[in-house]
Amino acid sequence: MFSVLLELPEFEVVNQEIFDTHYFVHIEKKADEERCTCCGFYSSSVHDRRTKKVRDLSILNKPLFLNVIIKRYRCQNCEEVFSAPFESIAAHQRYTNRFRQFIYEQVLGTTIQDISQKHQIAYSTVERIFYSIAQEKADEHENVIQKTQEVQDITLSLDEVAVRKGQRYETVLYDANLGAVMGMHQDRDYTSTLELLRLKVIHPERVKNVVVDMWDPFHKAIRTAFPDAQIIVDKYHVVQKVTQALDQVRKKIPGLKKARFHLLRSYENVKEKNRSRLNELLETHDNLAYGYFLKELFRDFYKSTDYAIADQLLSEWIQLAWSSPFESFHEVAKTIENWRPQIMQYFHTPFTNGRTEGTNHKIKNIKRRAYGYRNTQRFKTRVFLECTGQTYKKQMS
Ligand SMILES: [Zn+2]
Repeated sequence: MFSVLLELPEFEVVNQEIFDTHYFVHIEKKADEERCTCCGFYSSSVHDRRTKKVRDLSILNKPLFLNVIIKRYRCQNCEEVFSAPFESIAAHQRYTNRFRQFIYEQVLGTTIQDISQKHQIAYSTVERIFYSIAQEKADEHENVIQKTQEVQDITLSLDEVAVRKGQRYETVLYDANLGAVMGMHQDRDYTSTLELLRLKVIHPERVKNVVVDMWDPFHKAIRTAFPDAQIIVDKYHVVQKVTQALDQVRKKIPGLKKARFHLLRSYENVKEKNRSRLNELLETHDNLAYGYFLKELFRDFYKSTDYAIADQLLSEWIQLAWSSPFESFHEVAKTIENWRPQIMQYFHTPFTNGRTEGTNHKIKNIKRRAYGYRNTQRFKTRVFLECTGQTYKKQMS
């Protein structure tokens, strides 16, 4: 006869039934003596037996239900009737611990709805299981992050995530070393950003670097919260401004819509077969070539390995941008002049928001998946777990 291998060592199987739709396995705890929950004396006198139906991991895609026989003992010392707890089934649970863990893991990366349908479990049950485990895990992660930050210099990264174009932004605070999301906020003004920083960073005195874009309220909040930290304007945000300036030049020339992709890419990333087309375009349109040259030159600036050389290159670039006929490049030159010390700080402390990019993408997905995160705390817990827990695990192992 087919026999189910349970791997729950505290139980023995007393009977098993196989149905078309599920397995039903009757189990009883092996111990024949338990400690009284009231006075601590051991008792082996069984008072009665009750049963409870508990769902466990499916076997070969067939649901497995356990009929757990619960022995109640009578204490010889204090007369109390008691039953002993199980290792694999928490008190008052209709699901084994490993089944709950499984459901939790299944929901990560998808939706509660999905898992509810896939495993034929009520939506509210999946939800309850998921968030009860999620909260525990989130607390655990937060603990580890705080412990790590207690003893290490901290590099933070503050970034904005637009979930959909034109939609509200989420301000996300990361520990750049750990690649962990520390907190999120829906606004991006000075007051709420400062609140986020003060609430989430328990050891402000350890914050040495903060990577951020060129949004002024962020800078003000960072300077208030961590007056001694170095602020680094994120390289990718600066490069993006330059690329957008080139795109403005491109838009003024008719018929170049298709070329956009090749133009905005860095030259060495343009595929061999598209290069001749790109070269031809640059030869035909002087203005485009001018803008393209400015864009590529800017990338050279970022490649400098030496602060003094970088500083020299940036001065030259700003001059060239101003002397160009393009308003879009004048704008960028102005922005860069405004943020120059924080942009140049990169060459002393080369941190970027690069590694948070993937996380930003994930956050968008989580938000898209669940349109109705009416409960922002749940949304945050989810982001925290999916973005922090997993990255973090990778870091540690
Ligand atoms: Zn007792």
